[in-house]
Amino acid sequence: MSKFDIQGLTRTFFGGKDRRECANPTCTTKPKQQIGIRFYEQWFCGPDCFERAARQKLLELMPARGKQEKPPSLRMPLGLVLVSRGILSHEQLKIALDQQRTSGTNFGEVLQELGFATQQQVTAAVAAQWACPVFSLGERPLPTAVHIPTRLLELYGMLPVHFQEAGRKLMVGFITRVQHHMLSTIEHVTSCTATPCFITDNEYRRHLQSLAVVSVENELVCDRANGPAEIAKLVRDQASYVGSEEVRFGMCRDYLWGRLLGQQEWDLLFRLPED
Ligand SMILES: [Zn+2]
Repeated sequence: MSKFDIQGLTRTFFGGKDRRECANPTCTTKPKQQIGIRFYEQWFCGPDCFERAARQKLLELMPARGKQEKPPSLRMPLGLVLVSRGILSHEQLKIALDQQRTSGTNFGEVLQELGFATQQQVTAAVAAQWACPVFSLGERPLPTAVHIPTRLLELYGMLPVHFQEAGRKLMVGFITRVQHHMLSTIEHVTSCTATPCFITDNEYRRHLQSLAVVSVENELVCDRANGPAEIAKLVRDQASYVGSEEVRFGMCRDYLWGRLLGQQEWDLLFRLPED
């Protein structure tokens, strides 16, 4: 399913090599001791060569960006899961479906408004639909070792809820659906193995708020739609400005997520045009 490699986990870059060769075939810079920029397992001697490679990579990534996955049509409808669990009666199911038709709101929310099911019961039923576990954060703070831009957490209704250093295993909690395209993107950008779980809406909101207070300083969001050439130029400028040693790209459905690594970690988000 992942179109990105996750070999970043074991990757060793150019260890011990004194002289590096720029991966740009048209590079005219004489090989010398430079910091350069690592990008997709290659090394580029400077901003010009990096920008060229970034532009090419974007042209390759853009058409393949993750589309909204189809709803889980083969899964049992949420109402029936709750009936089968003895939480909802057939009569209540009928009332809730009628209510949903007129209000147009999310079925899980309708059930809670009517008092037919609790948030925990709805979350557990949604998790069962997706064959994922429910994760309860309780009073534990969110893991800080792995950072995902706040804009993406809000947009895709997800949070990093648990991180295990051994094997770099990350659990990502979703509230309404699993965003598979984001799991593979997170794996690539953060060098983690990401697995999905579900969390309640309340826990999601509470922790997202606490996160927004602390973690927005090194995030730049560009909401104007840009073509590959302009995005590559902006990434190059920021990477040169902050002295990045490595750049990673993660394709999301709505954004290109660029991560700059080095002394400082930066996340750049570029909104992609609608297709
Ligand atoms: Zn070069």
